[in-house]
Amino acid sequence: MSPALKISGLTAGYHGTEALRDVSFQLDRGQYLGIVGPNGSGKSTLIKVILGLVPARGGEITILGTPRERFRSWDRIGYLPQGLQFFNPHFPATVDEVVRLGRLAGKRFPKRFTAEDATAVNRTLEWMGIADIRSKMIGDLSGGLRQRVLLARALVNDPELLVMDEPTTALDPETRETFYQLIYEMNQKHKATVLLVTHDTATIGKYASHLLYLDKRVIFFGDFDAFCNSTDMTEFFGAHGQHLVCHRH
Ligand code: ADP
Ligand code: MG
Repeated sequence: MSPALKISGLTAGYHGTEALRDVSFQLDRGQYLGIVGPNGSGKSTLIKVILGLVPARGGEITILGTPRERFRSWDRIGYLPQGLQFFNPHFPATVDEVVRLGRLAGKRFPKRFTAEDATAVNRTLEWMGIADIRSKMIGDLSGGLRQRVLLARALVNDPELLVMDEPTTALDPETRETFYQLIYEMNQKHKATVLLVTHDTATIGKYASHLLYLDKRVIFFGDFDAFCNSTDMTEFFGAHGQHLVCHRH
């Protein structure tokens, strides 16, 4: 089977800023990649280039076996963007509507909502434990519940690739743990490939199979054992920093 994601020699930037330099790595189906790195290290840019929201300057991207330029099956990808802590509390939609939108987003015109769509929405609401609040306005929910609804929206098409940019930033520790469990379940049971940008370096080792440490260029890419056994990484992070990532609580 083709890899879930293959990136070679990727460069990207904005006006005068270089954001990504010669980034290459490959992720096989079912793998779970944690992406970490300092602020401004190009993590969000990488995600946006993969999804086609920011143009690449050079390099190649293959998604689920298809070159990025020809990839059209966006319903096979679930995306949870960064920055939802600034979510507009007056956003005029119910939980149900937000998740239904996830179903419609992948369709071409005419965008009809079918019985099959309704089944998928119901199944996802149940699975996320939000079926009982389906008629509530999303702006009235707590940060944790709202993030769960947005995760449901990203999962409603049963995506093969799930892409998330710092999804737990606005969550309290307990909700954060639940959230990680749901994603882990998606990865383990549904064999979805996961790409997760996170600041939770102390948590990510518990769930992710692979780690990408980005600082415009790739500082490290590999599985967790390779990261934890790497003396280069001990030098780079210090023994304490490396231990924080490797100690799987
Ligand atoms: P991270 O997500 O790792 O914090 P980003 O990918 O958001 O990093 O940013 C990488 C670099 O690109 C930073 O220097 C940032 O200031 C710059 N940058 C990000 N988005 C834009 C943009 N829309 N316009 C101009 N510069 C940007
Ligand atoms: Mg970012």
